[in-house]
Amino acid sequence: MKKFLLSNLSIKISIGFFLAFLTIIIVQYLSDDSIDKLKDSQQEMMKSNMLISKVSMVESAINSYDGKISDFVCTGNDLFIKNNDTNLKKIISNMTYLQSQELNSEQKSLINKLDSLVKEEIQIAQKTLADYYSQRNNREVPNVDPGMGESVLDNIAIVATLFQTLETENISLIKKSNDAHTQKMELTNELATAFALIVIFISVLVLLRDIRRRNVLEKELRFAEKQAYKVAEMKEQFMANMSHEIRTPMNAILGFANFLNHTKLDSKQQEYINAIRTSGENLLTIINDILDFSKIEAGMLRIENISFSPADMLHSLQMMFSQKANDKNLSLNFNIDSGIPPTVSGDPTRLTQILVNIINNAIKFTEQGGVSVTAKVDSESKDEITLEFQIKDSGIGISPENLKTIFDRFNQADTDTTRKFGGSGLGLSIVKKLVELQKGQINVDSNLGLGSVFTFRIPYKKNPDVQSFITSPNIIPTASDNINSTVLVVEDNPMNQKLAQSLLDYWGFSCEIANNGRIALEKLKVKKFNLILMDIQMPELNGYDTTSAIRLNLRIQTPIIAMTAHALPGEREKCLSFGMNDYISKPIRENELLQLINKYIATQNIHVPEKSENKREVVHPEKNINLQYLNDLANGNPDFVKQMIQLFLTEAPQELAKLEQAVNLEDFTEIYSIAHKFKSTTSFVGIDNSDLAAIEKSAKGNLDLEEIRNRLNHLKSVCAMAIVELKNYKSA
Ligand code: ADP
Repeated sequence: MKKFLLSNLSIKISIGFFLAFLTIIIVQYLSDDSIDKLKDSQQEMMKSNMLISKVSMVESAINSYDGKISDFVCTGNDLFIKNNDTNLKKIISNMTYLQSQELNSEQKSLINKLDSLVKEEIQIAQKTLADYYSQRNNREVPNVDPGMGESVLDNIAIVATLFQTLETENISLIKKSNDAHTQKMELTNELATAFALIVIFISVLVLLRDIRRRNVLEKELRFAEKQAYKVAEMKEQFMANMSHEIRTPMNAILGFANFLNHTKLDSKQQEYINAIRTSGENLLTIINDILDFSKIEAGMLRIENISFSPADMLHSLQMMFSQKANDKNLSLNFNIDSGIPPTVSGDPTRLTQILVNIINNAIKFTEQGGVSVTAKVDSESKDEITLEFQIKDSGIGISPENLKTIFDRFNQADTDTTRKFGGSGLGLSIVKKLVELQKGQINVDSNLGLGSVFTFRIPYKKNPDVQSFITSPNIIPTASDNINSTVLVVEDNPMNQKLAQSLLDYWGFSCEIANNGRIALEKLKVKKFNLILMDIQMPELNGYDTTSAIRLNLRIQTPIIAMTAHALPGEREKCLSFGMNDYISKPIRENELLQLINKYIATQNIHVPEKSENKREVVHPEKNINLQYLNDLANGNPDFVKQMIQLFLTEAPQELAKLEQAVNLEDFTEIYSIAHKFKSTTSFVGIDNSDLAAIEKSAKGNLDLEEIRNRLNHLKSVCAMAIVELKNYKSA
């Protein structure tokens, strides 16, 4: 039973149907049988009734026959016996009928008796009639006794009554048996109905049980799914944090290695520096690979759909790799089919990533000969064009057995590879996933010792208006170009405000600042803006809620670009889900921001000017600050750097005081929000953010107040030193 209840639902339903079907067949069989029996007994009853009526017809006919003859001999009136033959015929025909029937022995003996009595009575009556006629012919006064046959008639009556009684009893017996049949039929029907009801009841119970079990299972599955998603999210977060934590010191290592490179070095030192730089760059690639891989695995990697020029992209790749190929004495040829349209729509970043990976490998694993890259049109439809890229090298090649698993993760052709060439074995598996995410295919052909050919195809959307995408080079906007476009910057951090304002001013846009979401909503009620730059973490009303209010309450469709410090995968999707159009992560890069603005305010073509020659790239002896980012942003404008430093000098002590107060009040929410905001401020002047990140993390989990206090003390001393350094820099 238990086994049955646990079995598959369709088996249970089939068994239910089978039982119901069987019940119907049994009921049908029993009903047919009973109906046949009822039919038989009905016929028997009809037969008995017929026999009774025939016997009584014989009785009445013989009485009438005899009566008429008696009346005739008593009165001499011929009229009495006129038509008496009819009675005789009736008697004969009915008696013939009775004797022709199939009868039981009792019935047979009574009918035989009746027959002989009837015959005797007819003889007596005919003798009486004959006597009468002979007396009348002898002219005597007829004197015949008409009551001679009376005793026979009495016997006939007795036999008829006996026969009728017998048949009546027979009928009542049949009736009784009929009643029994009917009762049996009713009982069978009731039993069948009860059985059917029980089957239905059990089926319903089993179904309910199944549905309940299914619901429980579904709930468990949903729970497990949620858990799995949570774990994936945690993994993502961990990966993002880890890679961030590793990337920051790695950037410092590489940065300082670069600085050292600019100092006087002997050849040994130069060699060591080069080794540090190469290893650092390799490590960064691996970290990026791991982050990409985890993004792809969690389904959080977004494929962009923007317009780009495949030919331009391939040219820059050629430039990028030419030095590397040269260093190894390898030829590097790029053949770009002229049939490829000037622009297509798709994800240029991911295409670059794929090509960089494969070309990098090709150069890495080739010692003689060279590498050639070919791009051509594979197929074309009305809206789509599929491009084929082929990267061919004359390198070490891949053995057939390794070729089978070349796209599997962490796979390197042989164990020697890691030692000789480095790498994580993730590159090609990411390449394959990226190609597939873009609805393309990739394959590889290789001969050990002769070289390898990687071929992949990706479909791209055709651009309808090719002309409009052809950009003229480096137009620097004049202030009047974009003056009619107003950008609303919703941001609470004064340094970020300053940065946005300077950049927008520089590009010629009008700009207004709102300190938080609420002020932004007020401004939007009375003024129309062309674009909104939206910070996420803000007091009063955060960026998500402000965006929801803009979209749902104010019903304003102005493009909104989120600016967030969260580098987590999925953050972009979250921003979009609240109604934002795009996303840029902090620290903001001028180029990226301009590209995005260009995307939404398409009225003017603006390009980032080439970095100016007089840009400051002086190495300073500061220990606690790094002004590289500010200098990059300043684009050779020292006033901008000074203004930003002044802002920091005003902001930092205030923020530190606020943070200290929140720590004293043990207000974790406030600690988190101040630390988050301050992180942005300190990153402008390159102060190490690890104290603030730790404070933010501890505050979020209401964790360790002691840790927060220690970190705060350390941060205060770092900031104090940074302030001294900044003041020195400013006055220098
Ligand atoms: P890695 O980061 O280790 O280079 P990849 O996934 O990019 O990882 O490559 C996996 C392995 O495939 C490499 O370690 C190498 O053994 C082999 N391989 C890839 N490209 C080539 C090539 N062009 N020629 C020979 N071997 C290659």
